[in-house]
Amino acid sequence: MHKYLANEVERWVCTQKTCKAFFKNDVRGTMIEDNSDGHNHLPDSCQMLMRQSVSNACKRQAKEDLFKRPSKVMRREITADALSVLTEADMTQVRKAIHSARAKERPPLPKTLDDLHIILHEYDVKTKVGERF
Ligand SMILES: [Zn+2]
Repeated sequence: MHKYLANEVERWVCTQKTCKAFFKNDVRGTMIEDNSDGHNHLPDSCQMLMRQSVSNACKRQAKEDLFKRPSKVMRREITADALSVLTEADMTQVRKAIHSARAKERPPLPKTLDDLHIILHEYDVKTKVGERF
C-alpha cells in the first residue's frame, strides 16, 4: 500500500523501486485502475523479505531502548529460520539500519549559538544536580 488518494482510494505499488506498476482500489476494495504493464520481473527473494522483517523489528526495538547494544537487539529479534537464511552482509545492513533509525531520534547538531539555545530549551536539558542548563 503506497498511499490514500482522494475519496479514500488506495494506491498500491510494487516493492521494487525501479518497477512502475501500480493499481488503485476504491473503498469497497474493487480495482478501479490497473497499470501492471512492466510488472514482469522475478518476485523478491525469501532472503530479502526475511532481512526486511528482521530489520524492521530491530529498528523498533532499538528506538525503544536507545542504549542497548545493536548486537543484543539483533540477537533478540532474529528468529531461527531467519538465522538459517541471512548472511553476514545482511546483518551488516541491519546494523546500519539500527544506527540510522537511532540517529533520526537525536536532534541535529546545532550550527549557530541560537540553534543550540533553541535545542536546549526544547529538550529541557538538566545538569547533574537538576538545574536547567
Ligand atoms: Zn513490479
